[in-house]
Amino acid sequence: MESVLDNHEELKQVVENVAEVAGYLWQKGWAERNGGNITVNITEQVDESVRQLPAISPVYSIGTTLPHLKGCYFYCKGTNMRMRDLARWPMDNGSVIRILDDCATYVIIADKPVKPTSELPSHLAVHNYLLAKGSPYRASLHTHPIELVALTHSKKFLEEDVATKVLWSMIPETKAFCPRGLGMVPYMLPSSVELADATIKAIDDDYDVVMWEKHGVFAVDTNIMSAFDQVDVLNKAALIYIAAKNMGFEPEGMSDAQMKELSDVFGLPK
Ligand SMILES: [Zn+2]
Repeated sequence: MESVLDNHEELKQVVENVAEVAGYLWQKGWAERNGGNITVNITEQVDESVRQLPAISPVYSIGTTLPHLKGCYFYCKGTNMRMRDLARWPMDNGSVIRILDDCATYVIIADKPVKPTSELPSHLAVHNYLLAKGSPYRASLHTHPIELVALTHSKKFLEEDVATKVLWSMIPETKAFCPRGLGMVPYMLPSSVELADATIKAIDDDYDVVMWEKHGVFAVDTNIMSAFDQVDVLNKAALIYIAAKNMGFEPEGMSDAQMKELSDVFGLPK
């Protein structure tokens, strides 16, 4: 079967990276059943021949108007699809959509009419925000990292930057590779407008990774691999914290001076 990925090497690479990350999410136990979502702005990888592709779906409403998405294209995980399936067959478990000129509707253009995730409005709202801000970020990831979610079952870790500080202090790379830390959003109904708004506010407060209490993370970065990496280093730090606790002691953590030195030497934002 023909695919939009044929003869579109850059686009193919982006989708292959999504598939690779989807496989990692499954292997890590972060993507049970149809859990998690990935949406990538692929407008820069779309050439004229893709722009000319006809719609293969009805016109769907986004449910909101997102003015900065005019003429944009996205690869989106399909609704009810599994990450472990997407890892092997990305164009059977996700699709390419075109945002129409009213910025309130979209159509699917390739490869199959796989309806995007029910989380599409919130993912697109985040992309709209990123474009409005002039951000280079093009990928958004939602997943359920076990140890990070477990942390949010403790009131202590829901306070501003308490989790950030503990995780950063476990191993220097955490601060170096997740330099904005872990934002916290209190529990809200999945898929709700309130949750999407709170997530955008947390990103606006200068976090790339936002924790949804008792649910999962939402991460943004330039590409899907980098978004995954930020979550991965944070969850690794949580695992080290837990390993120390399991050995029967409270981990000491790097000192404030050691963390400041890191920021100074590597020019980190916080
Ligand atoms: Zn979720």
